Amino acid sequence: MTGKPSPETLAVQAMHRIDAGTGAVIPPIHPASTYARGADNALIGAVDYRRPEGPTEQHVAEVLAALEGASDARLFSSGMAAGAAVVESIPAGGHVVAQTRMYYGAKALMERAAAKGRIALTLVEPGDTAELKEAVAARHTDLVWIETPANPAWDVVDIAASAEIAHAAGATLAVDGTCAPPCTTRALDLGADIVMHSATKYLNGHSDVLAGVLATRDTGDRWAEICEVHNKTGAIPGAFESWLLMRGLRTLFVRFERQSANAMAVAEAMTGHPAVSAVLYPGLTTHPGHAIAARQMTGGFGGMLSLRLKGGFDGARKLAAGTKLFIQATSLGGVESLIEHRAPVEGPQTTTPGDLVRLSCGIEPADEMIADLKGVLDRL
Ligand code: PLP
Repeated sequence: MTGKPSPETLAVQAMHRIDAGTGAVIPPIHPASTYARGADNALIGAVDYRRPEGPTEQHVAEVLAALEGASDARLFSSGMAAGAAVVESIPAGGHVVAQTRMYYGAKALMERAAAKGRIALTLVEPGDTAELKEAVAARHTDLVWIETPANPAWDVVDIAASAEIAHAAGATLAVDGTCAPPCTTRALDLGADIVMHSATKYLNGHSDVLAGVLATRDTGDRWAEICEVHNKTGAIPGAFESWLLMRGLRTLFVRFERQSANAMAVAEAMTGHPAVSAVLYPGLTTHPGHAIAARQMTGGFGGMLSLRLKGGFDGARKLAAGTKLFIQATSLGGVESLIEHRAPVEGPQTTTPGDLVRLSCGIEPADEMIADLKGVLDRL
């Protein structure tokens, strides 16, 4: 091989690491919880215990760090555990600015911390940089947390502009990049300090692993705090989950490309349908965040879109319950297409409109997806 391998090649070949003992082209799995020392008490390998990470977790974290252009990365047992570690790294009473619309679980986690007096929380309209600037300047701010594109309306948030605002106030910018994995957006290159993913979604891509990741630009004080939380809480994936995540990562680029193409075809086909009042997809030129998305999602706009239905709550209910190819289930980013009537899933605290249906486009043929949706919509 001549020159530096591309991120895609690094992902496909899991860093081109051939097992020295056997020549295996697939990395081994290391489930051992503890690791032996020699007569001099020195460790034989690089780790002594599987919390916070064993060799399998370290290998996956290295691949993810390379994909993100990060100085370091850590695996967690879920996306929520990764997000919780960031919140836990904030000093008592510290100020966090997040979004009114974002993954509802992460928002609930922050609201809980605020209700208990752990943090002070201000929520701003996603993508409104003037409001963000004002919130950050209102008091000393420790953390700005953005999600882009953001659940469930796929608001696009300008990462570079947010980084500028956060940094001018001395705050850390963390980006939930779950729906814009590094094959399309490298948040750290755009100025973010920390990027978080629910690896349960695109990074794994097969709906059979629960995991999270944090990757960092610098290994300063905030990262040291996060690593301490990672170590002390031990919220890490099992070795088998880490190994499955590595297997999924190998096909990230091709899966995401196909899912993006499928979602674009679905979004275009749904536009103007008499039963649909709005198609929310950053890939459409009519989407208010399209220009920013085109700049920061260079490998595709992803497989996530939402439809708002003229039939309101009942129409949304009927669509989600009526499709056959789209499986009615929560989550996203897997190879199989999913559909979800979002508001009831988010529960009584939801601010999501009752007429919204969220689609996660998988890798099935786009014409079958469109026929499946139209089959129900035409009867509404
Ligand atoms: N962030 C986003 C954008 C998500 O969609 C999710 C899960 O749906 C999470 C975070 C939480 O991830 P996990 O379910 O792996 O804890």
